[in-house]
Amino acid sequence: MHINEKRLLAEFLELVRIDSFAGQEREMADYLTKKLIELKAEVVEDDAGKTIQGNAGNLIAKIQGNACKPALLFAAHMDRVSPGFGIKPIVENGIIRSDGTTILAADDVAGITVILEGIRTAKEQSIPHGDLEIVFTIAEEGGLSGSKALDCSQLTAKCAYFLDSDGPVGTIINQAPAHKNLDLIFHGRASHAGVKPEKGINAIQAAAEAISNMNIGRIDNETTTNVGIINGGTAVNIVPDLCELNCEVRSLDSVKLETQINQMTQAAENSATKYNTEIDIKITDCYSAFSIPESAEVVSLAEKAARSIGVTPIIQMTGGGSDASIINKKGIPSVVLGLNYQDVHTKAESIAVADLVKAAEYVAAIIAQA
Ligand SMILES: [Zn+2]
Repeated sequence: MHINEKRLLAEFLELVRIDSFAGQEREMADYLTKKLIELKAEVVEDDAGKTIQGNAGNLIAKIQGNACKPALLFAAHMDRVSPGFGIKPIVENGIIRSDGTTILAADDVAGITVILEGIRTAKEQSIPHGDLEIVFTIAEEGGLSGSKALDCSQLTAKCAYFLDSDGPVGTIINQAPAHKNLDLIFHGRASHAGVKPEKGINAIQAAAEAISNMNIGRIDNETTTNVGIINGGTAVNIVPDLCELNCEVRSLDSVKLETQINQMTQAAENSATKYNTEIDIKITDCYSAFSIPESAEVVSLAEKAARSIGVTPIIQMTGGGSDASIINKKGIPSVVLGLNYQDVHTKAESIAVADLVKAAEYVAAIIAQA
């Protein structure tokens, strides 16, 4: 399947120049609405933006099928991380980068452009297809807020492809962990550190001992934990009365996840008892795990399509969460596909033009093979 590389690259470069952050996707949403209408899609924008006081909603587009084939859903996210303001892309030796002062936003502009170009190609080459549904979400980077607010009842696809992962084109992510955050606040008692230290209760010390008794890092092949942020104390001469720890636990297995949450909570409670501090414990459910069998249609179609364009499929799990975690939970079998972007969320982020072309061809192949 021939992909129009020049058009694809031009669209990618145009899209990365549009500033688009979680809650500030207006310009991107307007641009994409126009592009989707050009593809003869019916486009609806929902009010997901309200949940984060944002200025745009998720875009939900539908292109009517021209053949009796299954409906497919393709999705990517419109927002990006910082520093992603005023991106000036540079193309050199087939590689696209930023000028070094910002990210490139290939995550997830690459996803958006290969969906648009893949569908455009399929239409131009008169490939018979079922209904095509396209979702461009807001605020993925801001805690998956757009997909969490998405009403899936209007979507009919039973196979969803999220173009939003690293790994070579042909990478099919069929498993991702559940994720919970654990926030622990130790309340001690302030006192002058030099004059009356015995009157104080050191919240940092209590927190430190709690951390030293926690299982941290890789627990097993499907479970990880982390203490990511510690905040406490106001001055070097005051016994600190407050220390906050922000921790997380991820696991493919919900029982293992609970075990680690309990282990970390218990360590905190034991330490709080020992040092006589009060403790606030807050557990937040971020998203659920998903695990789609390799025999499922959404995976086997992705495999077949990869082979049809000479790419070896790589089926694997990830340790990260994405919109697919949310949409799986809402009942649409979803996998995440690799775009081979490199060093995402850093100023060194890059993507090869050849990978953009291959990924667009892959989208067209999934449509063709369905
Ligand atoms: Zn992303």
